[in-house]
Amino acid sequence: MTSASTINPQVKGQNTQKNESTTPGLLEWLRRSSFDDLLNSEMHSRDFNGSRSEYIYMRVRLLSIIFSILSLLWIPVDIFVMTEDELSSILTLRLAYSGLFLLLGLSTKGAQKLHCAHWRLSAFVLIPCLFYVGTRLVFNHETNINGVLLGYSFLPYLTVVLLAIFPLTLMEGVRYASIVGITFFISEVYFNGSLTIETLVDIWLLTLLAGIAIWAQLAQLHMLLRLYREASRDPLTGLVNRRVLNKWLSIEITRARQLKRPLSVLLFDLDFFKRVNDTYGHLTGDKVLQAFSRLLKRDLINSNLIGRYGGEEFIALLSGKDTSAALNIAERIRKNCHRIQTYNSEGQLVNFTVSVGVTGLRDSDTIESLISRVDKGLYSAKMKGRDIVVLAEDNENAASENENREQQ
Ligand code: GH3
Ligand code: MG
Ligand code: MG
Repeated sequence: MTSASTINPQVKGQNTQKNESTTPGLLEWLRRSSFDDLLNSEMHSRDFNGSRSEYIYMRVRLLSIIFSILSLLWIPVDIFVMTEDELSSILTLRLAYSGLFLLLGLSTKGAQKLHCAHWRLSAFVLIPCLFYVGTRLVFNHETNINGVLLGYSFLPYLTVVLLAIFPLTLMEGVRYASIVGITFFISEVYFNGSLTIETLVDIWLLTLLAGIAIWAQLAQLHMLLRLYREASRDPLTGLVNRRVLNKWLSIEITRARQLKRPLSVLLFDLDFFKRVNDTYGHLTGDKVLQAFSRLLKRDLINSNLIGRYGGEEFIALLSGKDTSAALNIAERIRKNCHRIQTYNSEGQLVNFTVSVGVTGLRDSDTIESLISRVDKGLYSAKMKGRDIVVLAEDNENAASENENREQQ
């Protein structure tokens, strides 16, 4: 079974919510500054990982194609400055470099997958590293590399600096800079025969540049996280909003079909919520919405996605769960609503109930038909008196329920 922390974007994103009420110590301050978000991607939601991976994908693609072309354009300069022996080796290296970058630039696999983004970045760093080692092999007998050829020795620095354009976590930034640093260090020691003071100076410079690049990567990541949260989360409950829900619904439907596993959808609507607002005020209504969303997060820890669909309506996508499992879960949530104790500002207990529509993905479904069916299930629950879970079974029933709804 997949663990909640790996499949539940909600749970991970929600863990990062900040408690603003206490005076922070150092650790608390770091936590509030989203330090854990910048350290590694463990706390990032799957949706954010998808967006970030796509961002990395676009940049790697563009740069790879540019490098692939630029490398070939440099060939006339090589012909002009190199001896015949050097030229044939360098041309081979250039063609390999250019070809590998072209392959990387044309690869479209897993644009939204974080592990593919990691592979892309590794290749993006390794290709120039290998090219650098190759050029060291070619020019090693040269005691005095200068002029145009000096440019080849800048490659590790250039690679480290280029990493600054990606929004990376601290761990990722260190990892990719280390690939360059280690390659550079080993080739220096190998080709110079020993560790020289010049090598140490070069490593110092490389580390300095890597530090600046990592700073820029973290700043980008921080900005991206902030923008993402503002654009994707409902500020009241911390759940994802409808935009993200629609995006992930389509992804989950495709995935469920590919893996031939069930997918169930639960649609919740708080009963007589207008009355809660009218009786206790909107602030208490907000507290009820927050209490209900906490209940969903707690009871749907293994669900793929929980979101606020709008107003007092919430949706959950249960991937890998058939309708009978989904009905049990919905029933548990419905009953747990009776136990939630929310109080208004005068200390009065505010009770509320929820109606739930449940349905499962069918072969013929589109997003619209799936949502429309679960909506009909919910409507049926309302018609049956509320505080009830209803499975939206077949189209005819649903259609007749819909007719009732239109008549009311
Ligand atoms: P039903 O049982 O048929 O669902 O009745 P209802 O009163 O829950 O449904 P209705 O659609 O009439 O009212 C929904 C109410 O939810 C109206 C709106 O003011 C309230 N609402 C929507 N969003 C928020 C919110 O963010 N905060 C608060 N406090 N109320 C909200
Ligand atoms: Mg409603
Ligand atoms: Mg309602």
